[in-house]
Amino acid sequence: MGRKPLNILLPQELFATAESAHYEGDYRFGAISRGVDTYEFREPVHYDLDITNTGGALLVTGIVSGDATSTCGRCLEPFDIHIEADIEGYFLINPESRDADMEEDEFEILPADHKIDLTPLFEQAIVLELPLVALCSPDCKGLCPTCGQNLNKGPCACVPQEDDAFQKANNPFSVLKDFSFEE
Ligand SMILES: [Zn+2]
Ligand SMILES: [Zn+2]
Repeated sequence: MGRKPLNILLPQELFATAESAHYEGDYRFGAISRGVDTYEFREPVHYDLDITNTGGALLVTGIVSGDATSTCGRCLEPFDIHIEADIEGYFLINPESRDADMEEDEFEILPADHKIDLTPLFEQAIVLELPLVALCSPDCKGLCPTCGQNLNKGPCACVPQEDDAFQKANNPFSVLKDFSFEE
């Protein structure tokens, strides 16, 4: 996705059990997609994390947060959403120290140069916080299918709300529901 890496070089002091280091700052994250929706972080996201040596591995935990803009899937208006996501990463210092029951996607191998890129951790964290469907509000009324007016801004001049009876009367198949197909 062309995201610029955010590499940190882990200091030698971290390579003793129970040592930890704190990192925080801002990063221009840009845009991320989930399904058909795109979320754009116009301002840098803020990250605040700790890296702890758990003996054999480095555990990265913390928070990445920021405000993203997306487009509502119902009314097509832009809306803002605040994202606050938990970062979690696990880097094995020595690949042989891997637990046999650990899944491939639960850890990474620490690169030999002791440099790690934080951006994949940000992506994994943020994508989990994105809604399944981008909506400006859970009860967004959407657009009128006839005239296209945004119904959140008020009713349009089209046929007043079609009620169930009206729809049933106009649906040639609705009568089938009343038939019994049993002989
Ligand atoms: Zn909407
Ligand atoms: Zn209308």
